[in-house]
Order: sequence, then structure tokens, then C-alpha cells
Amino acid sequence: MIDLNTINLPDGKFNLPDFKVPLEFREPYILSGYRQPRISARECLQSIFKRCNETINVWSHIVACAFFVIRSLLVFSEHNPFEDPFVYPLLSFAIGSSVMYAMSVGAHMFNSMSNKTRHVCFFFDYAAISVYAFSAGQAFYFYSRPLNSDWIILRYHFIFALVCVAVSCFSIYSCCASRHRWIAYKYLLRTGTFMASFFVNTLPYWIRIWDCHSEVDCYYVSFPYFRRQYMFFAMAAIANGSRLPERLIPGVFDFCGQSHHFLHILSAIGNLDQMTALYQDMLGRRNALPSDPFPTFINSVFLTVIVLVANVAVVLWFSMSLKSCDSICEDKPVGKQE
Ligand SMILES: [Zn+2]
Repeated sequence: MIDLNTINLPDGKFNLPDFKVPLEFREPYILSGYRQPRISARECLQSIFKRCNETINVWSHIVACAFFVIRSLLVFSEHNPFEDPFVYPLLSFAIGSSVMYAMSVGAHMFNSMSNKTRHVCFFFDYAAISVYAFSAGQAFYFYSRPLNSDWIILRYHFIFALVCVAVSCFSIYSCCASRHRWIAYKYLLRTGTFMASFFVNTLPYWIRIWDCHSEVDCYYVSFPYFRRQYMFFAMAAIANGSRLPERLIPGVFDFCGQSHHFLHILSAIGNLDQMTALYQDMLGRRNALPSDPFPTFINSVFLTVIVLVANVAVVLWFSMSLKSCDSICEDKPVGKQE
């Protein structure tokens, strides 16, 4: 346990103006509150108890993660996945969401250690979003797909899973590559990739709404939550992409109220609504859904872990490649992006 009181570093190390940090560590319209680049892991940890412009990024996802984990534990204490395999997809989703929060916290906390660490931190952040989207997709398939569909992607689970695995791998590869290739299109590429991934992974629900015939498919108790999660995720993406409100009054929201804080908070609320929608469908459609395919540990939890390992492998591959281009990477512009 680190005793933070034993570290006596000047607060100025965690509250530098933008002109005192290299260009690649700056954020648009944020004029102060920067941590000194190339601080140690211990100093990064200390900084989240100081007034810097990563403090709220870290704490917002620590709080969201704690809230999500407690809620998940309450759900699983009522519906034990190890006694009822039908709950496995919801467990996968809970694992994917928790991993996403944990990696986001790590990325925001340690990204000042070095330029290379900053790249690696956000590689892991992209992987977390990619795995989370995959886990949500599998849960939507098992709980929210239409009863009978002509769409071949929904008729066989392995086809849907293969498509989602491919989307996840493409997503992590293109996002990592965008940090040192296709720089001019990096924001467009990452936002577009995540939006496409999210759409594909929620496809079972969309197709069910679009082609609703039976009473079961038109059972819309979960729909308000499904709609709200899209609304919150869309607002989060718009806030982050537009850089509002700091674009209007640069310097005022350096510590609190900048667009990335809205991204974290709105997406956390959307994540909770998403879980509610899945939970409602898990309970309400269970008896109506066909028994084949039925969720198992292998086709839900294990598959999500495999996708997590594949994403981490891509991240490690990109991280290794940074070693051989260190001098080049040091000069590349980078930015915070989720
Ligand atoms: Zn973030």
C-alpha cells in the first residue's frame, strides 16, 4: 500500500499549463491541469488525488465500475450463472463492462509515464471497448434476437459470433494503427469503427424491432432502456467529438466539465441502461426463445475470454512494434480518445 503522505512532490508537477508540456500530451481547448510528462507510476497514482485534468476521468470510471460491479453482484446473487447457464451471456456482458472500466481507469491514470506508455495505455483502452462491444453483442443475440428470422446471421449463432469476432479484431487493429498511421483521419476512423461495431453487436435487437410479428418479439418492456442507451451513447459521442463545452470557453473546464467527462458519465449511464434492457429480455423472453442455440459457458463466457485474449495479442503486437520505432513515435502526435 502506498502512503501518499510520504511522497512530497510539488503540486505544480500535476498542474502545468499547456505550453509547458509537449504538443503530443495536450488536449484541444484544455489550457491547464496537465501532469508533467514522464512521471513514475507512483506519481501517476498520486496525481488522481490532486487537481489535474485526469482526476475526474479516473474517478468517474472508478465510481461507475464500483456501481456496475455491485449491481451485477446483486443480479447474480438472484440468478446464479453456475446453476443456470441461461445467465452466462449476462455474466459475459458484466465481465466485458468491468474490463472496460478497469482498462479506462488504467489508461487515464498511467498515460503520463512516457510517450510510449501513453500509446500502450490507449491501445488497451481500445481493446477494452472492443471486448465490451463483443460481450454486449453475444448477450443481445441470446436474449433479444427475433424468434424466427430469415437473416442468416441470426439463424446460426456461430455465424453471428464469427462476424462479431471479425468486427472486434478489425476494430482493435484499425484503432491501434490510427495512432501512428492515417493520423489525419484518426478521430473519424475510431469513432466510425466503434459506431459500426456497436451497430453490428446490437443487430439482433434492431432486426427484431424492424421485423416484429409475434407477440414475443413485440414484447417491448426492454425497449425504453434499449432506446435510452442509444441516446446516451450518441450524446456521449457528440460531446466528445465536438469538444463541447471547452471549445466555447477554453480554460474554464480544465479540471471539471470538459467533454471527455461527459463521455465517461453519459456512457456509464448508457451501459447501465443496456444491462437493464438485457436483463429484462433475459427474464421476459426466456420461455419463448428456442432452446437451440442455448447459451453455454463455452459459447458465451469462454468465447468472450478468447476475444479478450485476441485483442490483448493485437495490443501487444502493436506495443512491440513501438520499441523499434521509438524515436519516430516520440514525434507522433497523439491524443486522448475512447
Ligand atoms: Zn476516457
